[in-house]
Amino acid sequence: MGVQCQNDATRGLLRRVRANVFSSAIGFIVPRPILATIHTAALRHNLDRARRSALEARVWAVVKANAYGHGIERVFDAFRGADGFALLDLAEAERVRALGWRGPVLLLEGVFEPRDLELCSRLDLWHTVHCDAQIDMLAAHKTQAPQRVFLKMNSGMNRLGFTPERFRSAWTRLNALPQVDEISLMTHFSDADGRRGIDHQLEVFERTTQDLPGERSIANSAATLRHAAATRADWVRPGIMLYGSAPDFPEHDAAHWQLQPSMTLSTRLISVQTLKAGDTIGYGSRFTADGPLTVGVAAVGYADGYPRHCDTGTPVLVNGVRTRMVGRVSMDMITVDLTPVPDAEIGSEVTLWGRASNGALLPIDEVAQAAGTIGYELMCAVAPRVPVAVD
Ligand SMILES: *Cc1c(COP(=O)(O)O)cnc(C)c1O
Repeated sequence: MGVQCQNDATRGLLRRVRANVFSSAIGFIVPRPILATIHTAALRHNLDRARRSALEARVWAVVKANAYGHGIERVFDAFRGADGFALLDLAEAERVRALGWRGPVLLLEGVFEPRDLELCSRLDLWHTVHCDAQIDMLAAHKTQAPQRVFLKMNSGMNRLGFTPERFRSAWTRLNALPQVDEISLMTHFSDADGRRGIDHQLEVFERTTQDLPGERSIANSAATLRHAAATRADWVRPGIMLYGSAPDFPEHDAAHWQLQPSMTLSTRLISVQTLKAGDTIGYGSRFTADGPLTVGVAAVGYADGYPRHCDTGTPVLVNGVRTRMVGRVSMDMITVDLTPVPDAEIGSEVTLWGRASNGALLPIDEVAQAAGTIGYELMCAVAPRVPVAVD
């Protein structure tokens, strides 16, 4: 897709978004220039990328947290090619079914209370079983049809799941319940993205389950990309990679894994200031110009979900040219150094992460690192007041 046609498409979408969100009783209100854009082609590409790494394994598209902040309805079309949707909020499962998805849906944390099992029956949801209380709920459940469950082992993460010592008795107990149909086996890795790796957990999982029947699911994005052994299972569970963020940044970036950003957060300059040596910028005068400096003020702040922990030096694109933030993040504004972009003016495009109109990329992982966090958190934290377009 050419830059020109992308622009036209984006403008059309923007008009529609604005019309949807902002036509009110008093007429047509144009919002602030901030916009999140969801890139359908990138989502589709990233799912293909996951499938290539998954080899023979089937692919759960993990869409928890409203598809990592993208919106389940907005990613659904791109992820139709997945073998199932995995998430943990029952209301989100209901939304996936409302979109017409008839394939597998997995609740990654299982049920929270007995009545959730009725919804599992009604919507045909598969659910994780990670503790005795959930088995008790199943045993007490009056079911129309036996349910498909994923029994979770705590192989070292020490969050959810049965320890290896207790795993087999949980399996035996489940297997005896008329409420239960097929039992699959799963675990989750704590260090698939790092030095410790997965071997210690994989060994425990395989040893404990070796003579148990049932499908296996063990790999998140990092394991899918980095550990072929984890993809020798029936299902993989990629999340973050589908959204174009590298699970093991900064060791590898998204380009290394051939992932494309699925979300762009962009805005425009609303003011330009010319500073002289000694002038400071913003709250707390955190930045002092050491010579003449032109800065632009961009309409984005922490109330949009742009992290306040970003400070001087955080990368930003202006007109698709890489520059840096200077001074503190305010509620509704940030300030950027315009030195590398002498032609910038009020209205110039500012890309906080994702893809600029000229095709330049700013990986969300770099911005997250500057804020002391991870891409996951930034995606999930885009504020409701930010209009969203889909291209
Ligand atoms: C969130 C989640 C995943 C996906 O993890 P990513 O790191 O986003 O790929 C997989 N499995 C479980 C159990 C999860 O909760």
